[in-house]
Amino acid sequence: MAIATVNPATGETLKTFEPLDEREVEERLERAAADFLTYRATGFAQRATWMRAAADLLEGELEETARLMTTEMGKTLASARAEAAKCVAGMRFYADNAEAFLADEPGDARAVGARRAYARYQPLGPVLAVMPWNFPLWQVIRFAAPALMAGNVGLLKHASNVPQTALYLGELFTRAGFPPGCFQTLLIGSSQVERVLRDRRVVAATLTGSEPAGRSVAAIAGSEVKKTVLELGGSDPFVVMPSADLEAAVSTAVTARVQNNGQSCIAAKRFIVHADVYDEFEARFVERMESLRVGDPMEETTDVGPLATEQGLDDLEKLVADAAGRGARVLCGGVSPDRPGWFYEPTVLSGVTPGMKLFLEEAFGPVASLYRAGDVEEAVALANATSFGLGANAWTTDEREQERLVDELEAGMVAVNGMVVSYPQLPFGGIRNSGYGRELSAHGIREFCNLKTVWVG
Ligand code: NAP
Repeated sequence: MAIATVNPATGETLKTFEPLDEREVEERLERAAADFLTYRATGFAQRATWMRAAADLLEGELEETARLMTTEMGKTLASARAEAAKCVAGMRFYADNAEAFLADEPGDARAVGARRAYARYQPLGPVLAVMPWNFPLWQVIRFAAPALMAGNVGLLKHASNVPQTALYLGELFTRAGFPPGCFQTLLIGSSQVERVLRDRRVVAATLTGSEPAGRSVAAIAGSEVKKTVLELGGSDPFVVMPSADLEAAVSTAVTARVQNNGQSCIAAKRFIVHADVYDEFEARFVERMESLRVGDPMEETTDVGPLATEQGLDDLEKLVADAAGRGARVLCGGVSPDRPGWFYEPTVLSGVTPGMKLFLEEAFGPVASLYRAGDVEEAVALANATSFGLGANAWTTDEREQERLVDELEAGMVAVNGMVVSYPQLPFGGIRNSGYGRELSAHGIREFCNLKTVWVG
């Protein structure tokens, strides 16, 4: 894929970039390795000062940064502003909490015959971050803020369609005072990732993106015995039981499906509704989905902007066509509006069966499928019948049913009477083909640390 900014709302190519050549990659790797040696010795207070300065810079540039994201990948301006504000909060969260999260952990000295015994978290070194375009700022910050606060340094290989956001991020931390090798953007294509990952100076990798990309990066890292964290795709269920507040469930279901123009890993994609309330849910949900305004993402009144890439639109159209061709009913949408850009109408299908691609694969756009479940067993079985395990949403006011759904939904995250959202304060990540490892909270900052056991006699 060419490294370029192409406005998804018009299809117009605005700027193209040459990938870094071998010499330029080498320079950046050398700088990362050299700066790590001094950066690792800086204290939390110094790092926190720089991190807060980076947060202040971004806060002051929030509007321009939001517009840049909307131009590069088509999210609505309102959601771009919210994303940038969340990054500011995330940076401040790790500036405030990193030292406590990485404090020495005392062990039972007497039991091991020591005067003192404890475990200490230490940084590992340069970490490669391979990142997706869908939350072009937040996905990077939720890696970078904890990694830098832990004393690691970062090398960012961002998605090829968000190069200007990638360059902005590369400069943000240096402008805030971090040494220049602490966080660098590598404008490279995915075919150059292997060379960087195999380099002896790169000690670990994190990838947020699709399952095939995750498999490839993890296989290379595995052959080099380098740690990875993988945040991959999902096909999150949204289970609605009869005791749920149906109005709240419907309106949250719409938001959970169309957030970020339907392109979120934790968007609810499969809506599994108990038979007692199915008809009512379907009628209200379809009505809301039909009423959403599709249009220019820069317009304040737009609910759903374009898909980020032409390929993404093509993939989504094929998933819907496959389901419709095999007997699913399209209740609304199912078409691209006749206008330039990569728009797709909010779409709802019923009659999707577990053998269809739409059930098994990730629908990365505003397409929802509805399922009728006879009881809680059937709802759980349907919810768990994909290879993914990222998030799950459960709607019921019955406390025993809540406990059961929390226990039995196979996912890294469950939201009860709400929707799965990422928060700096809570761990984020999946199981099964949605990946492994955790980001955010105390767990995220510890992923790329050496937990060194210390025994003092
Ligand atoms: P993608 O095509 O996998 O790309 C993600 C990143 O990986 C890009 O930087 C891409 O570079 C790179 N890449 C692709 N193939 C690669 C390979 N074989 N080797 C090395 N690098 C490779 O995914 P996307 O379309 O950008 O993002 C959407 C996916 O991300 C969805 O599946 C979504 O669910 C997932 N996602 C997951 C989370 C989570 O936290 N679990 C969060 C957000 C998104 P190029 O752009 O140069 O190809």
